[in-house]
Amino acid sequence: DVRVRFCPSPTGLPHVGMVRTALYNWAYARHTGGKLIFRVEDTDAQRDSEESYRQLVDALTWLKIDWDEGVEVGGPHAPYRQSQRADIYAGVLEKLIASGAVYESYSTAEEIDARNEAAGRAKQLGYDNYDRNLTDEQKAAFRAEGREPAYRLRVPDQDFTYVDLIRGEVTFPAGSFPDFVIVRAGGHALYTFTNPVDDALMGITHVIRGEDLMPSTARQLALYGALIDAGVTPFVPRFGHMPLVLGETGNKKLSKRDPQADLFLQRDKGFIHEGLLNYLSLLGWSIGPDRDIFTLDELVAAFDIADVNPNPARFDQKKAESINGDHIRMLTVEDFAERTISYLAAAGVIDAEPTEAERELIFAVAPLVQERVQLLGEVPGMVAFLFTDEIDYAEDALKGLPANHVEVLEASATALAGIDEADFTAATIQAALAGALIDGLELKPRVAYGPPRVAISGRRISPPLFESMELLGKERTIERLKGLAT
Ligand code: GLU
Repeated sequence: DVRVRFCPSPTGLPHVGMVRTALYNWAYARHTGGKLIFRVEDTDAQRDSEESYRQLVDALTWLKIDWDEGVEVGGPHAPYRQSQRADIYAGVLEKLIASGAVYESYSTAEEIDARNEAAGRAKQLGYDNYDRNLTDEQKAAFRAEGREPAYRLRVPDQDFTYVDLIRGEVTFPAGSFPDFVIVRAGGHALYTFTNPVDDALMGITHVIRGEDLMPSTARQLALYGALIDAGVTPFVPRFGHMPLVLGETGNKKLSKRDPQADLFLQRDKGFIHEGLLNYLSLLGWSIGPDRDIFTLDELVAAFDIADVNPNPARFDQKKAESINGDHIRMLTVEDFAERTISYLAAAGVIDAEPTEAERELIFAVAPLVQERVQLLGEVPGMVAFLFTDEIDYAEDALKGLPANHVEVLEASATALAGIDEADFTAATIQAALAGALIDGLELKPRVAYGPPRVAISGRRISPPLFESMELLGKERTIERLKGLAT
């Protein structure tokens, strides 16, 4: 059975690269009926933070990416935080020392440099495997000096080859790297050790992660050989390295500091999770030619890691927003209305808890804006004029008013005053305004309806005019028309 993992180091704010990694692992687990394990790689006390971890859980919860084993849900391989697994790493280290795969190393960086220089070896080659065959007497002498050993893996002199799920066969030639430290002097276990050890102990079958981690695969393969020999695990997982995500300009990796990478910023702009996940899935994968829009169920049904494209993918904010707009239109109008509430509150259009009257208005105006926005964050600006009588008239809207706007507004007010209050609907409003402005003043619709639109909404672009007036009601509509006419 497929077992995949999402195992971030909790630093900084959740970013879209992390989410794509989680998404691909999640989609693969759900597609295959396998399990997704969420492991926290928090072994760097300096950089990792509980707050970052909380934010990540919050982000995944918002995105409705769920997992089968982890800190919150538990599971047979708990604990799922590396900071709580020190005993486990110590136990595996014992086994590898006993099997002879790992040895004590006392060389300092200065000693290694000095030896390389004396032997005419390039400094970049690093450690020279000097401590491989220390005698017990030599070790005792180092200890007597007060030195503590680091532990290094004895790397076999061989090529390391594996078949990448996304890139095909990859070979790291023999001699590419020296015996490397897996546990530092003092006992701190390093990523190159803890990550594969946990994958092995947790029965991970497929390691799906970013291309930037591909170089570490060579060392991990060497370690896996030792873990199998020592009976820690029976198999090596398969590896797949997802393509880099590039920023919008140049050929640079999307940086954590790019605003597009900031997941919470994207949420605040008004991405819905369906739209964002649809877009992120396209960063390295495609459901089929000429098809960009699909549901999460369709993604899960179609997703196979073997179809992921190894070429870099470019983050495109415009395309992401346009896809989000398509997903907004796929929501039921009630669902859409509910989801706008927190955005209306954040923008100060309503209080956090809308009143009953506000709720009614939100649901009434929702169908008028659902067709027009790509992001939920656009909604408050479009509908605020319905919730307040203090209209902010946009400068460009006022500047764009035609010279005859006073005449147009007065004619509009007079025409609407003739409608019976109980009969003040989009249809009667349209008939009255058309009669007064198109027939009466002989204006083109484009010119005719601009001033009333600015008068009631403060903007050049608003939800449909007649419907908006109906929602606003007769009295307030006429007040605003007169207000801008004076
Ligand atoms: N904790 C590692 C990282 O965040 C995980 C690497 C992996 O997926 O193997 O980079």
